[in-house]
Amino acid sequence: MRCPACDGQLGLPLLSSPDRLHGTPGTFSVACCMVCGLGVTLPIVRPDELAAFYPQTYGAYGLPTGALGLVSHAIRRLQERQALRTPPLALLTELPAARLLEIGCGRGDLGSWFVRRGWLVTGVEPSPEACAVARQRGVDARVGTLADVELEPESYDAVVFRQSLEHVTDPVADLRRVLGALRDGGVAIVSVPNFGCWQRRRFGGAWFHLDLPRHRLHFDADALRATLERGGFADAQTSTSSSTAGLPASIQYAIFGRACSRVALPCEPRSPPAPSPPRWHGSPTGSAVAETCFTRWRTSAGRDLR
Ligand SMILES: [Zn+2]
Repeated sequence: MRCPACDGQLGLPLLSSPDRLHGTPGTFSVACCMVCGLGVTLPIVRPDELAAFYPQTYGAYGLPTGALGLVSHAIRRLQERQALRTPPLALLTELPAARLLEIGCGRGDLGSWFVRRGWLVTGVEPSPEACAVARQRGVDARVGTLADVELEPESYDAVVFRQSLEHVTDPVADLRRVLGALRDGGVAIVSVPNFGCWQRRRFGGAWFHLDLPRHRLHFDADALRATLERGGFADAQTSTSSSTAGLPASIQYAIFGRACSRVALPCEPRSPPAPSPPRWHGSPTGSAVAETCFTRWRTSAGRDLR
């Protein structure tokens, strides 16, 4: 079996786990590329097989109403303020309102923040239900994936993959597609779970952010940097942060083997909470790391890859 990022040989499976969140039948494992270090979920599946891993209960796409809606709205506003004050999203707040592309926009939680700040926001999202909610919030949400959604070339000032690149089967192709949609000088922000963090090493197959079988790829800092470079994004700036959900949810998985309460697992992959204040200059393999964020300013040289 070959690595989907660099075509290198995959090693023996490093760990395995059932679907602890949604109970997809079977057991899944992760093998790492012996060249770039990228973790790959086995068995490898085709893109048209991915939908089977996302049941109707995946993702709370509807916006709650009534008293619950008021509480939810207040929480989202707090998350908004925290996320926009901290890297990597803080980088976007330093830019004048422009055109944003979000890959895996869900119900538009992030996109609507920027809509209210005057940005024109386009989202790509496979779920029609999520797109319908996102459109109500001002996001130009387009149903599909990067393989089939049409994007205006060289038109976007920024693109965000927020906990979405780990869900795809061909990351290099997807990165090249967004590279073609970015204008010269545009910025790309990619946030993924950090496969190199201590929680993954400690909890193994019970690590909450492993999320098998939906996470098809597993990046540590080096693997993500290598994948970005193959996609045309060189000179990545990197940082790490800790998710508030990761540790308690991993402990729950380690004790009970599965998710006992969705309430205790607030980190839905497509509408994640804002990260706790990250250690922007911290090591990607530091002691409290659960996520890794990468940013990079595009250069026109990247056009040669399209
Ligand atoms: Zn590789």
